[in-house]
Amino acid sequence: MKILPVAFESMGVRSMATYVETNDLRIFIDPGVSVSPDRYSMPPHTVELDRRRDMLESVKEWAGLSDVVIITHYHYDHHNPDEICLYKGKDILLKHPREHINQSQKQRAATLLGLIEPCARSVRTADSQEFIFGNTRIVFSPPLLHGNSPALGYVVGVLIEDDQKFLYTSDVQGPMNQEVVDFVIAHQPATIILDGPPTYQIGSHYKKSDINQAFENIKKIISATSIKSFIIDHHLLRDLNWQDYVSDLSSVKPATKICSAAEYLGKKVDILEARRKELYGGQVCV
Ligand SMILES: [Zn+2]
Ligand SMILES: [Zn+2]
Repeated sequence: MKILPVAFESMGVRSMATYVETNDLRIFIDPGVSVSPDRYSMPPHTVELDRRRDMLESVKEWAGLSDVVIITHYHYDHHNPDEICLYKGKDILLKHPREHINQSQKQRAATLLGLIEPCARSVRTADSQEFIFGNTRIVFSPPLLHGNSPALGYVVGVLIEDDQKFLYTSDVQGPMNQEVVDFVIAHQPATIILDGPPTYQIGSHYKKSDINQAFENIKKIISATSIKSFIIDHHLLRDLNWQDYVSDLSSVKPATKICSAAEYLGKKVDILEARRKELYGGQVCV
């Protein structure tokens, strides 16, 4: 199995876009790329906007090669309603567009479905479902909270299995919930991509105790599995101090290698959003 993180915070954009190639299937998960409209009360820097354009090209290239496209929820860093080529002729497996969903994502899902239903090869809802394509099995979790309340809606986690197992959690914000821990432990993946706790929102959207719970949950997963490659990125990599948290987790089990998506590929981490003040030369934009 080939696992290729395509666009992530560690590469300079908001995304968890991932290409997976099994023995007999090519799959693209969450073909969306965005930048934060407002970080440190500053709009995106031109460096970030240029990176978003470049990353979107990579997403289009790899999604174009794929047979199956998965959409785990309807935030714009996970799907893209403006690039119909991402879905044309593909088998689409997506988060249920009307059940276990908040109002804004329900509207976005309806818009996306209107665009892709005429051009996709097939469109099927994924929540709690299992799909077999040749020798590849794709298993979806039940709807999982996007954080610790229904306010941000729900996502579906994805397990892809051929002779190896890969698990993609989507936006579970940590994870903050035991349900996510149970899904991961039940499937015992060799490789995982987790969005990581949103430590940059401590004191605004989340309490310190929420974030502490998320790290405890990650430690539970590490302890109860034999995961070899544990990729943490997305929300955690919006924090300039993300490495301190990874160092702490790395001591739990030396056999579990914890890294960002860029590091997994042997590339240098190149976060941009967390460095926005620096990109603007320390000036505060009003
Ligand atoms: Zn999200
Ligand atoms: Zn996201």
